Amino acid sequence: MTQAAVQAQEGAFTAPQPLVVNRDGASPVIVVCEHASCFVPAELNSLGLDAETLKSHVAWDPGAMKVAEGISERLDAVLVASQISRLVYDCNRPPAAAGAVPERSEIFDIPGNRNLAPAQREARIALVYEPFRASLASVIAAAEGPAVIVTIHSFTPVYDGVARDVELGILHDSDARLADAMLMNTHWHTSLDVRRNEPYGPEDGVTHTLRENAVPAGLYNVMIEIRNDLIKTPREQDAMAATLSGWIISGLRELGVAIPGEEV
Ligand SMILES: [Zn+2]
Repeated sequence: MTQAAVQAQEGAFTAPQPLVVNRDGASPVIVVCEHASCFVPAELNSLGLDAETLKSHVAWDPGAMKVAEGISERLDAVLVASQISRLVYDCNRPPAAAGAVPERSEIFDIPGNRNLAPAQREARIALVYEPFRASLASVIAAAEGPAVIVTIHSFTPVYDGVARDVELGILHDSDARLADAMLMNTHWHTSLDVRRNEPYGPEDGVTHTLRENAVPAGLYNVMIEIRNDLIKTPREQDAMAATLSGWIISGLRELGVAIPGEEV
């Protein structure tokens, strides 16, 4: 179905297009931020949620976009980011997943996602997921050599009432090469509590972007989860971007991938 046809049907809304930053970046790294925004289009009536919930981690990954921008700048990498809340459509989930348009998130019911008509769900897929998927695919296709996919997320320090000790998660699906190379480095050089596939892992369905765009093509890839209380201020976000950029560079160096401008 064309975008125009979807706009005309039941459940349609005006969706901002995915953001592509530094499209001509020289790095093989492509930074992806699926949960960059908490924006909900006016037509969706806040999905029945109050303003506080709509600004919380339920709706997006606070701080993640700022860290992603910092990494993009440091590595001269392209950044692809969704500009719409994951509660409208979670761009890190395939259309068949129930969680793609969640009826519930952590302890919150999402009234505006309950009992959607098939046409309403189709509109979410066509207006949010498909443009995001197309943007990312076009950026990967435009890369000169094999791209490296790095997705940036943040997670809440307290989930379902339980405090989380883990500060940074280095996540992977079936291809652990870049995650392994980064973990080898972080094991020795940081005071942060860094763990593999925590607080989520592939069994939770969180590696969709990697599985869709990197694993089948054999591209190096990693997903990074940052505890959001560590990236509240611009200063913290910038410091985190600097740290992670260093880990990405040294991980890629282990794998023999050169980053333009970096001594290898
Ligand atoms: Zn996320």
